[in-house]
Amino acid sequence: MSPNIMVVEDEEALGVLLRYNLEAEGYEVDIVQRGDDAELTLRERQPDLLILDWMLPGVSGIELCRRLRARPESEKLPIILLTARGEESERVRGLATGADDYVVKPFSTPELMARVRALLRRASPESISTLLKSGDIELDRQTHRVYRKGREINLGPTEFRLLEFFMRSPTRVFSRSQLLDGVWGHDIYVDERTVDVHIGRLRKALNLANMRDVIRTVRGAGYSLES
Ligand code: CA
Repeated sequence: MSPNIMVVEDEEALGVLLRYNLEAEGYEVDIVQRGDDAELTLRERQPDLLILDWMLPGVSGIELCRRLRARPESEKLPIILLTARGEESERVRGLATGADDYVVKPFSTPELMARVRALLRRASPESISTLLKSGDIELDRQTHRVYRKGREINLGPTEFRLLEFFMRSPTRVFSRSQLLDGVWGHDIYVDERTVDVHIGRLRKALNLANMRDVIRTVRGAGYSLES
């Protein structure tokens, strides 16, 4: 079963973005917009991980976090706190209320996804699959190794992230800007042609020894991974 993640965030656009990215990672997602609603829902069922915004209507994220930690059933619930405040003293206060991790807004989506994976892996290693498979390609997230027909493929870090991103949604066509957002993060300025360069390298690495080309170029649309 895929891990369930509850997101408590009152900014609607951010909620949509988080849902999209978390679902693409294979998680089940619930979005709650108010701190007091989240508290009620959490009394009935517990997600595998909670992403909690600091500034919320109803009950603040930090107060909710403190209350959750005070109850035995949510004492160990993995919590990532989102905060717009960057000062070190505030960060320390965030961790002191018992959040496992915090991410300062605006954050890069790949960075937050990496924190979610890391925290889930720490909290319940069995809930997160480390091995992705697509056709004859295998990618091990833990050891960062990639195999095709059992032969190891050497990839640079960007090509590895690019392949991992494709393997989460095989056959889906991604535009260059979606790839930039998903792999590089939307707050980093990279030219769209950079995507073509890394696709070229990934393709070359994967298609060793005249194996079938698994990266499809869709004219005017982008790229996809075929299995
Ligand atoms: Ca907020």
